[in-house]
Amino acid sequence: MLNRKDLLGTADLSKEEILSIIDLAEQYSNENIKNVNNTRILKNITQINLFFENSTRTQVSFEIAGTKLGTNIVNFPLKTSSQSKGETLLDLASTLNSMFPDILVIRHPKSGAVQLISEKVKCSVINAGDGNHEHPTQALLDAQTIRKRLGRISGLKIAICGDIAHSRVARSNIFCLKTLGNKIRVVGPKTLIPRGIESLGVEVAHNMFDGLQDIDVVMVLRLQKERMDGGFLSSEREYFHHYGLDEKKMQYANPNAIIMHPGPMNRGIEIDGDLADDINRSVITKQVEVGLAIRMAVLDLLTRGHPLRKKCQEQ
Ligand code: ASP
Repeated sequence: MLNRKDLLGTADLSKEEILSIIDLAEQYSNENIKNVNNTRILKNITQINLFFENSTRTQVSFEIAGTKLGTNIVNFPLKTSSQSKGETLLDLASTLNSMFPDILVIRHPKSGAVQLISEKVKCSVINAGDGNHEHPTQALLDAQTIRKRLGRISGLKIAICGDIAHSRVARSNIFCLKTLGNKIRVVGPKTLIPRGIESLGVEVAHNMFDGLQDIDVVMVLRLQKERMDGGFLSSEREYFHHYGLDEKKMQYANPNAIIMHPGPMNRGIEIDGDLADDINRSVITKQVEVGLAIRMAVLDLLTRGHPLRKKCQEQ
């Protein structure tokens, strides 16, 4: 059970809350394979998707997740909205609030923007990624993918490699995977690892040899150039040579280690293309599949006490 209005991050989620989401997602994941019709579950619930930043996987899977549960979905048209006329976020929040939505799914390039909106609206808000702050559903789907593939989601050693500094995925995964009882090591060049990150309870390594020793899960991150203002890297070729995950570096990890990437991937920069496609080790497409079930579980759990859901059951 999720006794909260919003899902803004994983930092304040308890182990029980995380497990309740991934357990329900497991059920949805099995039902999706069997084509079970769940479109009555969120019938009458209005879901608005607001993506102020580009997205493929997250936006589409929130849309499909809502459709599979029967929500009325409105995709907020950013290009033609008053946002392009300079409307402030708070004015937008109060405008949306007046239309009585039940769930807002929001992605925004500024850290903290989603929380700001959530404080101004009565309905549930789901953070679909805010700046370099948090991306909770990505971390939850990563946890479920690991559990599906390795059979457990505690007591593992997990390396998060690459551009940690600009990654909301890294932060949400650190909080979530640590709460579940795993050891986390972040691996990357000094320029891409925030100073003081050890205070989050993670180990730090600056080369892949030290970084991947004894590791069960290798999570590779994209170089987030859109958030870099220069000076972080000498060249992409050199980056791939030192930090790009390839067959040789993978040998440092445990023999059964799995490979993850939140997407979108830059093949030949942070990961070798053949390794990304190696179905024996890479779970990258599984992550996308599981993402749908996680988003269904979150939409469902956040609206469990909603009066419209009771009405729907009585109909
Ligand atoms: N899709 C993830 C995000 O939105 C990771 C990435 O963009 O590299 O943060």
